[in-house]
Amino acid sequence: AKKAVLGPLVGAVDQGTSSTRFLVFNSKTAELLSHHQVEIKQEFPKEGWVEQDPKEILMSVYECIEKTCEKLEQLNIDISNIKAIGVSNQRETTVVWDKITGEPLYNAVVWLDLRTQSTVENLSKRIPGNNNFVKSKTGLPLSTYFSAVKVRWLLDNVKEVQKAVEEDRALFGTIDSWLIWSLTGGTNGGVHCTDVTNASRTMLFNIHSLQWDKELCDFFGIPMKILPNVRSSSEIYGLMKAGSLEGVPISGCLGDQSAALVGQMCFRDGQAKNTYGTGCFLLCNTGRKCVFSEHGLLTTVAYKLGRDKPVYYALEGSVAIAGAVIRWLRDNLGIIRSSDEIEKLAKEVGTSYGCYFVPAFSGLYAPYWEPSARGIICGLTQFTNKCHIAFAALEAVCFQTREILDAMNRDCGIPLSHLQVDGGMTNNKILMQLQADILYIPVVKPSMPETTALGAAMAAGAAEGVGVWSLEPEDLSAVTMERFEPQINAEESEIRYSTWKKAVMKSMGWVT
Ligand code: ADP
Repeated sequence: AKKAVLGPLVGAVDQGTSSTRFLVFNSKTAELLSHHQVEIKQEFPKEGWVEQDPKEILMSVYECIEKTCEKLEQLNIDISNIKAIGVSNQRETTVVWDKITGEPLYNAVVWLDLRTQSTVENLSKRIPGNNNFVKSKTGLPLSTYFSAVKVRWLLDNVKEVQKAVEEDRALFGTIDSWLIWSLTGGTNGGVHCTDVTNASRTMLFNIHSLQWDKELCDFFGIPMKILPNVRSSSEIYGLMKAGSLEGVPISGCLGDQSAALVGQMCFRDGQAKNTYGTGCFLLCNTGRKCVFSEHGLLTTVAYKLGRDKPVYYALEGSVAIAGAVIRWLRDNLGIIRSSDEIEKLAKEVGTSYGCYFVPAFSGLYAPYWEPSARGIICGLTQFTNKCHIAFAALEAVCFQTREILDAMNRDCGIPLSHLQVDGGMTNNKILMQLQADILYIPVVKPSMPETTALGAAMAAGAAEGVGVWSLEPEDLSAVTMERFEPQINAEESEIRYSTWKKAVMKSMGWVT
């Protein structure tokens, strides 16, 4: 059959904590043509530890690329139209590998992992109270969340890592670096790089100078020779070395939350989006200003779309556990068989009946940054059943977002008039309606929810030397949206919210 004639296409790898996807977009219309998704295993070898297998992640990327190419061929679309590939990835997750053998020297230590709690405590004793140079250089609070302490742990505890560093064989990277190095040839000429957004989550990167920071590397005891080269989020890093897309340039790279900000077209100062995946992350573009929060938010690099383009910053409210609580109800309690069943359970009751669920499995992130917190379910009575707990789990995601939004409004001065959302959990209509009710502003969701991948594809397609995607915002003015308007009154919503805060207080101080 004759192949369909289309404009240039752009692919995007979206490597998240829960799954890997590969998606192909038409660069002229931003239309999603085909995709493939594979769920990723998470290992919990000890209480508080979260690991993933870097090889499994890499294989899942190849599998998604090949399956998507097959689907495109079935649709009669010529894959030679794919002109560029972008990468977006779960951030902070840390891999150290051997550049001679190409083998990871340990599992990937996932962002949610808590093993570095004592490392963090010891390090924080060395920061003078009136001169928090880590915060002022990186925009981040010292926490188990970021890569530097994870690398420190690997250096202290894994002999293979120590030995490889001594012998100059070790490379460090977040998932983007691991993937780009592997996809561009690995031991056979792989490019060891990262982009400014991913670098800004390592705690080793100076977000003002946009370079690795010697003082920070010394403070954490990390040898600078293992760090990747830092590049912009939109430029050609290298070419695919294998598979159906061999020879296609990889030319976009953004941490998943930055990618979603770009995919949601939040290019202007004050524009914000909230992504509901494993965790939940609200980012507000602060333009070319680096704004520091007074209310527990992070300052992070939003994007830099080209070598000679300016850098943009964002304020970020990070919630560790959002979709992960649904996965926990599925895998640990077994009250649902698939994530979407949660909606049916919650619908049966339509209320938590006074039950509150604070899923502080990894301590609490923003705005509390409280590592001593652990999950609690409270307000139980003889009447409570699994439906109420399901509802409370959904409500928890909304309350956590409300806390972030309150902090954001206080830091920015101008309250958000509506919330742009995306991510796997936004398929859940009950969640979206609850969110509007709890925030008391409309929640707006694009009909094409894969904004993370879209952002990575845009960065890749717009890169110098590719030039098949124009980043003019009016390009996507035709995007259709689904709106959820607040339906309950503000008073009712306030009462629920203040009870939630009481529950949060009860979740703190469980570990000392
Ligand atoms: P990530 O990018 O972190 O890998 P995704 O955006 O793919 O995450 O979202 C996956 C998460 O969303 C999982 O934790 C899953 O439990 C949750 N999820 C998926 N569908 C639903 C649903 N219908 N209702 C509630 N949660 C859901």
